[in-house]
Amino acid sequence: MDAARYYGQEDIRVENIEPDEVGPEEVRIDVEACGICGSDLHEYTAGPIFVPGDAPHPVSGAQAPLTMGHEFSGTISEVGSAVTDLSEGDAVAVNPIIYCGECPRCEAGEYHRCESLGFTGLASNGGFAENVVVDAEQAVPLGDMPVEHGALVEPLAVALHAARVADVSPGDSVAVFGSGPIGLCQIQALRVAGAGPIIVSEPRDRRRERAEACGADVLIDPTEEDALEAIRAETGEGVDIAFDVAGVEATYNQAINSTRPGGRVAEVSIFEEGVETQPNDLVIPERELVGSIAYQGGPRSAEEFGMVIDMLEDGRFDPDPLITDRIELDDITDEGFERLIDPDSDQVKILVKP
Ligand SMILES: [Zn+2]
Ligand SMILES: [Zn+2]
Repeated sequence: MDAARYYGQEDIRVENIEPDEVGPEEVRIDVEACGICGSDLHEYTAGPIFVPGDAPHPVSGAQAPLTMGHEFSGTISEVGSAVTDLSEGDAVAVNPIIYCGECPRCEAGEYHRCESLGFTGLASNGGFAENVVVDAEQAVPLGDMPVEHGALVEPLAVALHAARVADVSPGDSVAVFGSGPIGLCQIQALRVAGAGPIIVSEPRDRRRERAEACGADVLIDPTEEDALEAIRAETGEGVDIAFDVAGVEATYNQAINSTRPGGRVAEVSIFEEGVETQPNDLVIPERELVGSIAYQGGPRSAEEFGMVIDMLEDGRFDPDPLITDRIELDDITDEGFERLIDPDSDQVKILVKP
């Protein structure tokens, strides 16, 4: 079968490989759609970061080259002999968390905080392929929604988890820095949580338009006006909670300084490099800074994924403003990765249809 394999920076090759075997507790999924994620782009431009480059991943045993893609959905085509709760033909989204099951955080049931945390499609073969084999517990049934929309469950779960980590309450004023793919999901998750006003700072015109379609109340173009002044003009003393979804020095510091004294900042980005910051911006106004990674996984794969699936089914989450194109596997580099890293492109979320 064809699969898009990560070899290293700016080196992804579509190759013909042997499909993996299905073990007793595993299932094979024929991939319907697999989104290209911001973290895939980081691997492409600055990696390997999550992809094991020098040594095999301690849990999966895999290392580059491997098949990328961790935001995917599909239909089960083969079921391991010990799997009782899934059947051939079931439509599922895949929770890509890989965990050791033995470290203190895994024993506490916090699998996404595992000391050996990895992701299917970054630390083992993933969804940029005709089919993929995963643990049965990773496969979360989609119900009646279009199978393709299941590829959006993962990025929406990142945003839902961040809103929970940041402890958003109805009526909280919030700022979101960056409305790329996760930023747009974050805006939707904050709208679902009842936050408002939702203030979004984003330099690209088309992304601000999409932010509005996702539920932003106030839009700021930081190339035209000072984002912090605009947020203070809107809120008086700053927002209750800010989300940095852009992951660069400017937005890291703006997110902190956009919050009111006693406010909270959620960092939802993976950074390509360190930043310079003034810790007094946290200390003197007694602001809190929290990190948020991924979503609950492992035996709890269906918890946050299940919430997102319910919210996609009943319309609280809207997939349409998130998807900007659909491409074939063979075009993944030129039509996918290269367009997404082009700052002049309007692309946000491209779904690969293997
Ligand atoms: Zn992702
Ligand atoms: Zn662990």
